[in-house]
Amino acid sequence: MVRVVVVGGGLAGCGAALAAKKAGAEVTLLERSDMLAGVAVRTGDTRGNGWFAGQHELNFLGGGELGALMDSIKMYEGVKFPDAQKHAFIFNTGLIEPRLRKTLQDAGIVVHLKSRAVDVVKERGWLRAIKLEDGRLVEGEAFVDCTGTRGGIAFCNKYGKGCVMCLIRCCSFGDRVSMVEKAGGKEWHRIRGDGTPGRISTGLSVYKDTLAPWLKEKLQREGLMWVPVPPELVDLSKLGSMGAGRSREFVENLIIGNIGPVAKIFGFLNVSLVELRRIPGFENVHIEHPGSARTGHVSAIAMAFRDNSLKVDGFENLFCAGDKAGETSVDAAMLTGYLSGHNAARRAARRAPLALPTSLAIGDWIAYSTERYGSGEGQRKASYVMSRGEYWEKMQETGLYTPDVNRIRKRVEDAGLAGVMSSRMV
Ligand SMILES: Cc1cc2nc3c(=O)[nH]c(=O)nc-3n(C[C@H](O)[C@H](O)[C@H](O)COP(=O)(O)OP(=O)(O)OC[C@H]3O[C@@H](n4cnc5c(N)ncnc54)[C@H](O)[C@@H]3O)c2cc1C
Repeated sequence: MVRVVVVGGGLAGCGAALAAKKAGAEVTLLERSDMLAGVAVRTGDTRGNGWFAGQHELNFLGGGELGALMDSIKMYEGVKFPDAQKHAFIFNTGLIEPRLRKTLQDAGIVVHLKSRAVDVVKERGWLRAIKLEDGRLVEGEAFVDCTGTRGGIAFCNKYGKGCVMCLIRCCSFGDRVSMVEKAGGKEWHRIRGDGTPGRISTGLSVYKDTLAPWLKEKLQREGLMWVPVPPELVDLSKLGSMGAGRSREFVENLIIGNIGPVAKIFGFLNVSLVELRRIPGFENVHIEHPGSARTGHVSAIAMAFRDNSLKVDGFENLFCAGDKAGETSVDAAMLTGYLSGHNAARRAARRAPLALPTSLAIGDWIAYSTERYGSGEGQRKASYVMSRGEYWEKMQETGLYTPDVNRIRKRVEDAGLAGVMSSRMV
């Protein structure tokens, strides 16, 4: 039996572990904190626009577990985001972690929580083992780095406003450690307008009980609301700092969603609590995460250079996924997670990794971002997502976006790849 070791238990790492297991490998998942799901515990929306096609492709490729998990915690369908995302739904973020834990347990994946990887053992281009903080070695034939790109404290001190005690919880579990970096691989950072590396991630959640009763009641009923921001608080210069293709409505309104345990403000960044409380309905609001509305953790640090199979440049048996691969969002983490884990199992069995063809949305999207990041052009931009911005436009032009599930099934079959991710490779 070949062994695959996945480092990082966010959505990407969980997808990688599931795919490697289905391909026949013995899988160990190492997570530095005390729970799975990573930053997905405060996300909330999925499958908007082109992600619909991407997720259906993944399902027909044989990787449907995480998509089914999301369906099982769906709260609101037909929600209207300003960028008019078709198919998007809001899920209960409070349920994602227990469902992930159960899904991985049922699949027979060995999960080690509170197991922070701090180094690698390698021979030339081959990794042999991951070294844990307590000195233990975890050996394998292939490895996946899903450690994300957020924090730790040193980066937040240097490139942010210091530690804001965010949901990454470096104070409790230690900083993120990149396996690619430890192996001597090359990484890249996003660059802000002023040349500073990384971005400030300011996803903001508030306690629902501190909203005005009329607002809370409407939010519970409708799931997503647009609350107009008073004109004196509208600052359109924030648009440039937001994710790919965000429209001005995200600045002119508070787009607030009920994501289960708390309410989340989508896309709005850098307001103080004093300003927030000037918005009708928010007069007594309390912020849950990160405790202050004015700043957040540093993100988009330490992305790996990788090819279209998600193999890290310069290494034979090291793969990456999710934020680490430069692909940000819950859907991106799931799609790349599965591909990386599947390919790690192939590599462990000395088989060639699979790069999905550009006749598939997932293959075309990964190839597009590989090319953009590699040329340096994409490194200055927001990440390429299927839900908005330039890649979503490309999907519509090329027909890779379609709401017709049968067409999606057919293109996977035509590529000869139906069910490939549920077939044993080992
Ligand atoms: C506040 C917030 C809100 C967001 N909202 C949305 C949204 O609504 N919709 C959407 O599509 N996207 C959203 N995103 C983006 C999306 O959540 C992420 O792109 C995605 O979840 C990243 O998944 P990941 O697995 O790649 O990384 P992470 O979730 O960052 O997971 C990385 C994991 O690796 C672990 N780790 C790190 N170093 C080590 C180590 N050395 N050893 C062991 N483990 C380690 C970490 O503890 C963590 O669990 C949001 C992000 C944030 C921060």
